Amino acid sequence: MLTEYDLLRYRRQIFYPYLGEEGQDKLKQAHVVVAGAGGLGSPNAIYLAAAGIGRLTLIDDDVVSLSNLNRQILHYDEDVGREKVVSASEKLGRLNPAVQVRPLKVRITEKNVASLIAAADVVVDGMDNFETRLILNRACVDRGIPFIHGGVHSLMGEVTTLIPGKTPCFACLCQEIPEQEEEIPVLGPLPGMIACVQVMEAIKYLAGFGMLLAGRMLFIDGSDMTFSTIHIERAKNCPVCGGKS
Ligand SMILES: [Zn+2]
Repeated sequence: MLTEYDLLRYRRQIFYPYLGEEGQDKLKQAHVVVAGAGGLGSPNAIYLAAAGIGRLTLIDDDVVSLSNLNRQILHYDEDVGREKVVSASEKLGRLNPAVQVRPLKVRITEKNVASLIAAADVVVDGMDNFETRLILNRACVDRGIPFIHGGVHSLMGEVTTLIPGKTPCFACLCQEIPEQEEEIPVLGPLPGMIACVQVMEAIKYLAGFGMLLAGRMLFIDGSDMTFSTIHIERAKNCPVCGGKS
């Protein structure tokens, strides 16, 4: 149940009639896993915590480096060298002490992924590599958990909401793993924009209103501020979700 504190803290979003107190209570009951505490994961976690998501699990095995700070806005100059999940959970605890944050400094693997996302209502993709996304995707498909994909490169970004049995899964979209550069160019605001779209999707899904980016991929090109959406379909021969409905 919402407290007086909740009603005041989330007043401006509770005013939105399709969210309301009922939707806010759903956010409070929700458990979201944010995979990655970097360029996408930082703004993901900030907006999820600010929105009053009850439980956040933050997974990242890396430490903060100086070159992260142009975009990984949960980490400050003084955090260089610290574990990202520790730095992140400290800030989130100050932003919203009511949110239970579970920081996990661990690399996501095929072996541990099931336990990492076990109790999640939604998994938000803050990863920077295809291998881990595919591991998360398979686990989400197996458990019927929506996976909100986001990805960035230089001034380009993409986002879509992958709902098992209803939309393509990540493997449908990525049948071959493209070669990845060691370090990609990224301007900080772009992951911020993509992450904000991901969080809007998570909130809509959890509270049950609006139209999701389900079966649609949004592309944002920051160089000319073009926002375009394309229709995406399941791959019939998908090795992960093919045949599952
Ligand atoms: Zn698939």
